[in-house]
Amino acid sequence: MAQPPPRDAAGRAFAIPMRTRFRGVASREGVLVRGAAGWGEFSPFAEYPPSECARWWAACHEAAELGWPAPVRDRVPVNVTVPAVGPRQAARIVAEGGCRTAKVKVAEKGQSEAEDIARVEAVRDAIGAGGRVRIDVNGAWDVDRAVRMIGELDRFDLEYVEQPCATLEELARVRRRVDVPVAADESIRRAEDPLKVRAAGAADVVVLKVQPLGGVRAALRVAEACGLPVVVSSAVETSVGLAAGVALAAALPDLPYACGLATMRLLEADVCAEPLLPVDGHLPVRRPEVDPRLLADVEIEPDAWLERMAAARREWRARAGEVEAGKHDRTG
Ligand SMILES: [Mg+2]
Repeated sequence: MAQPPPRDAAGRAFAIPMRTRFRGVASREGVLVRGAAGWGEFSPFAEYPPSECARWWAACHEAAELGWPAPVRDRVPVNVTVPAVGPRQAARIVAEGGCRTAKVKVAEKGQSEAEDIARVEAVRDAIGAGGRVRIDVNGAWDVDRAVRMIGELDRFDLEYVEQPCATLEELARVRRRVDVPVAADESIRRAEDPLKVRAAGAADVVVLKVQPLGGVRAALRVAEACGLPVVVSSAVETSVGLAAGVALAAALPDLPYACGLATMRLLEADVCAEPLLPVDGHLPVRRPEVDPRLLADVEIEPDAWLERMAAARREWRARAGEVEAGKHDRTG
């Protein structure tokens, strides 16, 4: 029986300032869609073409229309992220974060190795012997520097090192020369990448994000096919998008590492009255409701975003081999 499309099925666009610039952007933008199963978020980065955005659309569609697989846990451990700040501020961020795992950014342009060492040391002291410390290099080191710096920093007992070098080939070479586990993050942008990471022997851990992989179910399939431990990370979304990351982390059979989903604080505002913020180092497994007043505060003119979403949807449907691409248009 034909039902009228639910309210907000067309999408409500938002722009929320970032507390600090991320990927060179000062504001995070996207569309929120309300479907039969709840709210979905479509927020690919500005430079992504429709071919790339198709999977982001699929993730939004799944959230809005299908919902997610049943969770196997009711809360998800998360890490606090320490940017390239001085040691005193790093210690304060760890103390305020209330998490048992800290991810420390290192190899920032213009900073010295001594600054990296001082920051990691301060974080280890602040989190204590029972806490876990990982570093994120964002691909900035060459192989020799990675091997040397990992050796240097491992006296602070590293849980793993995230993306020490840019390429799979380099990651594999580093991995053969150090004992600290290697995680792949930037090396994974699409569904086939985790399998390539594994085939190349490039990492011990894969960082997966829901939107770029096309949804929670798609990410679960990728995780299973890949077979390596998964750390779920956000694409710096509102609580609507974060809830999908939480759903993935909650549905994974094994979750040995804290996830990078405590990113709500990177945004100046949220669209939910009860944002997904960590409590005792964990995010609760739930879907926060959008607050119409909070959404109105950050709402922008939607036409450009709705066009982008429509292009992504056409791309997805074309890829899925649906000749009659228009027949599902009403479901958003
Ligand atoms: Mg990373």
